[in-house]
Amino acid sequence: MRKFVAIFLILAMVTTGFLSGCSKKAEPQDSGEMLVMASIPPLGDFAREVGRGRVRVKVLVPPGASPHTYELKPSQLKDLRHARVLVLVGLGLEFWADKAISAANNPNLIVVKTSEGLQILQGDNGRGNPHVWLDPINAIHMVELIRDAFIKADPEGKEVYQENTERYIEQLKDLDQEIRVTVSHFSSRKYVAFHPAWAYFAKRYGLQRVAVIEPIPGKEPSPSEILKMVKEIKAAGAGAIFAEPQTSSKVAQVISVETGIKLVVLDPLGGVPGRETYIDLMRYNLSQMEKALK
Ligand SMILES: [Zn+2]
Repeated sequence: MRKFVAIFLILAMVTTGFLSGCSKKAEPQDSGEMLVMASIPPLGDFAREVGRGRVRVKVLVPPGASPHTYELKPSQLKDLRHARVLVLVGLGLEFWADKAISAANNPNLIVVKTSEGLQILQGDNGRGNPHVWLDPINAIHMVELIRDAFIKADPEGKEVYQENTERYIEQLKDLDQEIRVTVSHFSSRKYVAFHPAWAYFAKRYGLQRVAVIEPIPGKEPSPSEILKMVKEIKAAGAGAIFAEPQTSSKVAQVISVETGIKLVVLDPLGGVPGRETYIDLMRYNLSQMEKALK
């Protein structure tokens, strides 16, 4: 099935590429802002902060969708043809990236994988865990890579990008401090994760994961696996189960009922009202954690 979709997308690209090739002069270069594509909402927010005043940002994986399963639309591939920078996490999170980049056939596109240079934690499926952005100290590094890519793509904006980045990094440092203070008041540091999204956050702030409900995204545990997990969680004594809005939390609810451990909904992606920015998103997550772990 996926193969058919891929073929369709490539065909669509060839066709739209052909058409836009014919009508290139009609393509508005509007305000002169540089078009930047980001894979997920937090990266979109980083790009907006760094590029404030000089870039226009489009996010590929829409709010509410899971980046682990989302397939790009032909219109998004078309956007990639006109973009100057594509901001990714890397580590296979954007499993569609290689195909999309070659289909876009855009020699001006600068691709920045923002996890590069970070200390990567082992994921549960044998690859590096891609959820690096959920640690604000990692976010500082990611923002710096975005700044460097923007300067490369648009050297005239160098000073603006540098100033924007400096200002934003101060805000990320404040956020880090805020999280440290809040977590220091938690009475329990143990949690059950729905999927391995909080590994970097946990490592940074001293939380301890006692189980993962769904180590491989989209693959639900069997009833016997659930039973085994309930026993392990009871023995380990977790303070919270972290569920997520982008995924079905039915299994998480069952485990919550069976263990009597409070279920809280965390959001690794945001992009929705109330948690549109990365900093608001992290504050939301912190307050949700607090509800169960305080
Ligand atoms: Zn994830």
